[in-house]
Amino acid sequence: MAEIWKGAPVAEALNARAIAQVEALGARGIHPTLAIIRVGERPDDLSYERGAMKRCEKLGVQVRRFLLPQQASQAQLLEAIAQVNGDPGIHGCLLLRPLPPQMDEEAARRALSPAKDVDGITDGSLAGVFTGSGEGYPPCTAQACIEILDHYGYSLQGKRAVVVGRSLVVGKPVAMLLLARHATVTICHTRTQDLPGICRGADLVIAAAGKPRMLTQAYFAPGQVVLDVGIHVLEDGSMCGDVDDEAAQQLAAAVTPVPGGVGTVTTSVLAAQVVAAAGKAVG
Ligand code: NAP
Repeated sequence: MAEIWKGAPVAEALNARAIAQVEALGARGIHPTLAIIRVGERPDDLSYERGAMKRCEKLGVQVRRFLLPQQASQAQLLEAIAQVNGDPGIHGCLLLRPLPPQMDEEAARRALSPAKDVDGITDGSLAGVFTGSGEGYPPCTAQACIEILDHYGYSLQGKRAVVVGRSLVVGKPVAMLLLARHATVTICHTRTQDLPGICRGADLVIAAAGKPRMLTQAYFAPGQVVLDVGIHVLEDGSMCGDVDDEAAQQLAAAVTPVPGGVGTVTTSVLAAQVVAAAGKAVG
């Protein structure tokens, strides 16, 4: 049976480091601060916002919310982003998306300063992930996968890693982060042929397809490490990931659970990146 790699100890270790850094910055009069920009009241946004605020509060990271009505104009949104960019007391920004249809998300992404983009949505942040230049910050979920592997002592060097999914939020950035750690990476998507066979040949499988329990027994081989990024709420209110966890647990060496796995680490990464941004801002 596989080991279960829970997210909680990973998040706790990240939180402990962040608390120490917040204290050190506080002694210099710097108070790491996250801006949250939300348009409207989508339940998913409200839930993520609550999680982020709770995490930040615990770590001593301050939060300032910029709340716009559902019918707000693009100009109002750009004004909020300009305020965030121009305020030296704000170190990071979470722009909740998707935005309402009257808004141009691309333009909003481009308007945000990569130096404050702690959620990895700007081209500057993605360029940083692809080039290793240090510009911006990786998307939190992609970085959460790396934090889990590091915490449990999994060395990526020379490993065959398969990422199922090629979104800009998870699949592509996590593939680049794995490559930077010297894994040999295969990125899979809906046109990939023999996906189960490709997954079986991997040392590490990262499932980010957004399909409930899509990766069944045929996708796994003994000894693998399986990170399940998927989050799905089923009709009965229970949650599952992209991995059929019973099948994975029978074969793999280690599996992250859903809930309680990758998702648990994401807001800690967000807070850690705000603290890092505050540190960079003061040099
Ligand atoms: P997305 O934008 O929908 O992308 C899904 C990717 O998976 C696409 O590249 C798609 O391929 C690929 N895919 C879908 N079905 C497939 C199939 N049958 N075979 C092979 N590839 C397939 O999703 P996302 O935003 O990356 O999110 C992925 C999952 O992670 C979702 O369940 C989401 O809820 C979860 N998530 C979790 C967190 C967290 O904190 N844990 C954060 C963000 C997202 P094509 O490109 O060919 O369409």
